[in-house]
Amino acid sequence: MKNILVTGGLGFIGSHTVVELLEANYNVIVIDDLSNSSIDIKDKIEKITNKSFKFYQNNVCDKNILEKIFSENKIDAVIHFAGFKAVGESVEKPIMYYENNLISTLYLCEVMKKHKCNKFIFSSSATVYGTPEKLPLTEDCKVGGTTNPYGTSKLMIEQILKDIVISDKEFTPIVLRYFNPIGAHKSGLIGEKPNGIPNNLMPYIVRVASGELKMLSIFGNDYDTPDGTGVRDYIHVVDLAKGHIKALEKAFNTTGIHYYNLGTGHGYSVLDMVKTFEKVNNVKVPYKIVERRPGDIASCYADSSLALKELGWKAELDIEDMMRDSYNFILKQNKK
Ligand code: UDP
Repeated sequence: MKNILVTGGLGFIGSHTVVELLEANYNVIVIDDLSNSSIDIKDKIEKITNKSFKFYQNNVCDKNILEKIFSENKIDAVIHFAGFKAVGESVEKPIMYYENNLISTLYLCEVMKKHKCNKFIFSSSATVYGTPEKLPLTEDCKVGGTTNPYGTSKLMIEQILKDIVISDKEFTPIVLRYFNPIGAHKSGLIGEKPNGIPNNLMPYIVRVASGELKMLSIFGNDYDTPDGTGVRDYIHVVDLAKGHIKALEKAFNTTGIHYYNLGTGHGYSVLDMVKTFEKVNNVKVPYKIVERRPGDIASCYADSSLALKELGWKAELDIEDMMRDSYNFILKQNKK
């Protein structure tokens, strides 16, 4: 049985990926400092899967802890989710973002090399494409022109991984560029639970629908899109998690660096999202149109055909599943 170290394994995408890993019979070791999660997520993952895993409550920037983990366990591959991800906060605290996101990755790569662990799955983002040069986005589109330190940290890490591969032919990073992950596990036990007022669309919509927030602000309706509101490629987090299992299988059978877009290929506008959410969940989502949010682009959606061709992966769940599961999770949370 292969041992997989998952950094940030109790976070939103991490927790869903740990479920899929356990269900695919991998042995999982998680490191998470709980800065954007809580320990009860571990119990919930174990309840869903009926399996357990080893857990280190530590920060990935602590090199001594990484040494300890790699000495105590024979790690076959690393999936690296841990990192700060709030776009707005990254603009206010760039040093904190660069320090945390870059140093954790550098230390991980260093300790991996020392322990001859070469397989590395990295959580990147469609944000590395900046303003898309064409749509849908393919992996060979130009990257750069990121508009905030969060996005730039992802781009810098991609460059670091590329440089390590030049120096070390054994190192095998698989870079997964996520589009917009939403939804939750169908059990309603794990999902997205941002601290404070959410920045992203879906967590905001569910809180308006549940009555915790009054009204959604739609950031601009004068974009060059069919209804004027921003268009994104929303992907169910369970599909995304499954993409990591496929990427892992690929990593064990290849070398060099590989990049994959993980999206559905469908673009939905903010208004599409609101209307579909209302229809699927039979609930009202009051909204008002406000100014554009600085740094936002009009449209972004993926061509994920490379992931289908090389990983045998494609998204199976549709926008209605995403809406239903997101709301089910929040209702279940609020019931407690
Ligand atoms: N959006 C919005 N109101 C919100 C949050 C987001 O209108 O409260 C819009 C945003 O302008 C974008 C889309 O929803 O067009 C998705 O935004 P999100 O922050 O979820 O993802 P990202 O911009 O990073 O793709």
